[in-house]
Amino acid sequence: MKRAVYPGSFDPMTYGHLDIIRRASEIFDLLIVSVLNNNQKTPLFSVEERVKILKEATKDIPNVQVDSFSGLLTNYAAEKDLHVAVRGLRAITDFEYELQLAQTNRMLSGGRMDTVFLTTSLEYAYLSSSSVKEIACFGGDISKTVPEFVAEQIYRKYRSAGGLSGEGNQ
Ligand code: ADP
Repeated sequence: MKRAVYPGSFDPMTYGHLDIIRRASEIFDLLIVSVLNNNQKTPLFSVEERVKILKEATKDIPNVQVDSFSGLLTNYAAEKDLHVAVRGLRAITDFEYELQLAQTNRMLSGGRMDTVFLTTSLEYAYLSSSSVKEIACFGGDISKTVPEFVAEQIYRKYRSAGGLSGEGNQ
């Protein structure tokens, strides 16, 4: 059985992530999408909320599971007996960081962990969680970037923080 982990912040999950998840789920028998609990970043959504969003968005893909982890990916992967990480590449700017990450994980795992890169579908090449948040916090239209139920949750967050005006009107 070919199993892989797709680790990331997913704060929040976008159509770009979902596209990688769908395509990876066709390559692997089981794909575990795992949310990194990174206390060095201040997220918009808690890990629990991000997991819930991913579960809802992937509920029609039977071989996808959603989980979370803290600390090193290689420790988590060793515990779960996972040897392949999936990552997405949007542009050359992702490449340098992703290459370094993949090589670090390979070193840390004693050569047991490899990274498989899927290149973004062109329609999502511009898309990142941070740009979605930036558009949403100024009340812009994010309907092309995330599923509707995710957009509602993002706007709700900014509304409750008092930072949203003219929601979805651009
Ligand atoms: P991280 O903080 O680990 O980079 P992200 O949630 O930002 O977490 O991204 C997780 C992975 O998904 C990364 O490999 C990133 O390059 C990839 N990714 C993010 N957005 C897209 C997109 N629009 N198309 C393809 N891959 C993407």
